[in-house]
Amino acid sequence: MKFIDLEIQQSRIKQDVDRRIQSVLSHGQYIMGPEVRELERLLGAYAGTRHAVGCASGTDALLMALMACGVGPGDAIFTTPFTFIATAEVISLLGATPVFVDVDANTYNMDPAKLGDAILAVKAGDLSLHPLPLQGGQKALTPRGVIAVDLFGLSADYDRINSIARENGIFVIEDAAQSFGAEYNERRSCSLADVACTSFFPAKPLGCYGDGGMCFTDDDELAETMQSIRVHGQGEDKYDNVRIGINGRLDSLQAAILLAKFEIFPEEISLRQQAADRYSHAISAGAADLTLPKVPLGLNSAWAQYSILAKNKEHRAAIQSELRRHDVPTAIYYPKPLHFQQAFANLEYQKGAFPVSENLSERIFSIPMHPYLNETDQKTIAEVLCRI
Ligand SMILES: *Cc1c(COP(=O)(O)O)cnc(C)c1O
Repeated sequence: MKFIDLEIQQSRIKQDVDRRIQSVLSHGQYIMGPEVRELERLLGAYAGTRHAVGCASGTDALLMALMACGVGPGDAIFTTPFTFIATAEVISLLGATPVFVDVDANTYNMDPAKLGDAILAVKAGDLSLHPLPLQGGQKALTPRGVIAVDLFGLSADYDRINSIARENGIFVIEDAAQSFGAEYNERRSCSLADVACTSFFPAKPLGCYGDGGMCFTDDDELAETMQSIRVHGQGEDKYDNVRIGINGRLDSLQAAILLAKFEIFPEEISLRQQAADRYSHAISAGAADLTLPKVPLGLNSAWAQYSILAKNKEHRAAIQSELRRHDVPTAIYYPKPLHFQQAFANLEYQKGAFPVSENLSERIFSIPMHPYLNETDQKTIAEVLCRI
């Protein structure tokens, strides 16, 4: 059994992929060819934003968004410690400081109440209000922005996060690397904050055959700035450089592949939903010791992962080995919260600082999830989980 099966999808779209790749080889505009613009138009319309800016990866999308917001040393950017390293890495790359905010125990996304506490703590420089990074002494930080993460495909609580951010005059970035295709109260993921960033890494809900990403925004000025940053800070043309930028372009070939994949993407999102419903139905009936994913009313997950909580670390290890015995692969996202990563040791966060994230990292595991899961395999998985 495969954790994510990309072969079935490829067999469905192979002709279209071949045709579109051939078309790029014929026109030869490998960099910023017409496919990039077409994809930006399509995905921007799907997400519901005025602008979409294709780029080289989800990480570059986050970096470009932070750069466009003018983030630098002395800035506090609030994000969660229960995410992929890229979310916080880009903050440090720009010399700003990640201020971690624990997640909600039900959604695994940023807890808005704790965000409020963290902003207050930074403003007052008061560690008794919320755990703060020490970074070898107490440098004063200025609250500048939030990166909320839509973990496993489920959007964070943007109504509350945006309103807290607005009250404090700071921006919000949606890390939608895992949630393209998700819905939030009649709106789509990637339209829920000042800027949204997604990833087309092959294993994401909409993946290409390499690296790729995209930024989304309704703000004309931010869009223009990100377009400039994407190509070395270009101004009038390539050899007029008005700011420091990066080489962050999306390849025409990857855009061509995404155009073919996007044709069946809405259908795939509903297939993922059906697969998730089958899991929830089959597992909840017989596995009292497991905590299944919960989706708040009004939201639809893109189901990048189907993640379950075991009772504790030992229980999780036993489940994983039993599943392995039945040829079922599992994965752990994420085994180490970011404040325990050596890369962030300089922030000097203590054990116990973010108890929900720490607890999740010991109990969480993900089972196979993709649009083409078959019911027999799902039954096998559910049976093993209900037996153990
Ligand atoms: C995958 C991912 C990224 C980074 O995307 P890349 O395309 O791999 O650079 C950022 N944030 C989250 C939450 C992710 O899952």
